Amino acid sequence: MPNLHLTVDTAALVANWRAVSMAGAATGAAVKADGYGLGARETVAALAAAGCREFFVASWDEAAALGTMPARTRLAVLHGVQDGEMAAALASPAVPVLNTPRQVAAWRAATDRPCDVMVDTGINRLGLTPAEAGSGLLDGLALDVLHSHLACAETPGHAMNAAQLAVFRAVVAHVRPARASLAASAGIALGADYAFDLTRPGIALYGGRGGRPVARLEARVVQVRTLAAGDSVGYGATWRAARESRIAVVNLGYADGFACALGPGGNVVAGGVACPLVGRVSMDLIAADVTATHVAEGDWVQVGFDLAAAAATTGRSEYELLTGLGHRYARAYE
Ligand SMILES: *Cc1c(COP(=O)(O)O)cnc(C)c1O
Repeated sequence: MPNLHLTVDTAALVANWRAVSMAGAATGAAVKADGYGLGARETVAALAAAGCREFFVASWDEAAALGTMPARTRLAVLHGVQDGEMAAALASPAVPVLNTPRQVAAWRAATDRPCDVMVDTGINRLGLTPAEAGSGLLDGLALDVLHSHLACAETPGHAMNAAQLAVFRAVVAHVRPARASLAASAGIALGADYAFDLTRPGIALYGGRGGRPVARLEARVVQVRTLAAGDSVGYGATWRAARESRIAVVNLGYADGFACALGPGGNVVAGGVACPLVGRVSMDLIAADVTATHVAEGDWVQVGFDLAAAAATTGRSEYELLTGLGHRYARAYE
């Protein structure tokens, strides 16, 4: 059994999902990249039980990894059907989000099953151009959701938001899809104009954007040592004990997504006491000054990992931090 635990608070996940729901629109959930590193299957199960009906992954592999989806849910694959993927797509109950004229043509030639379509309104990432979407390319297609994606939603006052909204409204009015969807987490915060029929939040569900924390990291004390004043800890001997100190060496490091920059100012909580990290973060280990506690070898400690603070300290986004937690944790759901 791994000596690292990533505990997912599913009540917080569900609370975050409810908190971003918008009047008049269904609230979906992006569970790509294995649920932003926290576990896609378990995320789907928890959110479906709470009433979420729409889920999004990036690829057919991610769709297959989810296995049988809960009843009355729909799974959409954001990258659509790339070359060589049609057999996998047709074997899956998931729905593609078609992004290019070639994807649309291939889908039309292969099946009359429903699909979603992405139209690019300015992010210049994936999707048909508005001209392509309005050219008749989609006529006769069993189009369920027409999607677009915002480039600058994290900046509420950015001119791109209103510009993309206006373009999307025009495309929706012309194409007349069954449903329309524009907002991810940041777009939801822009307000009711951005709601349309369905939203696609991801990061806000997992504790980003000021949501309730969802992921908790716990690791074990491999060794406790007593240092004399003047002794140093770790690579580069960057920290020295000012007095006799008890140091706990804990089996978590930067390979577990705990960035080196989180060492200074970081802590572990042991027996309810926050203990400062000392010395450099190693690949597999951190050290904490536990002089104020009775922590012993084999004890579990909680590793401080506040998403917003960690993002500010490291300069990495909340997305990178979550998806970078690595593969050495035993995940638990409570
Ligand atoms: C990842 C993704 C989302 C979710 O984005 P968040 O910023 O995590 O809310 C929604 N829509 C699309 C197209 C995406 O790629």
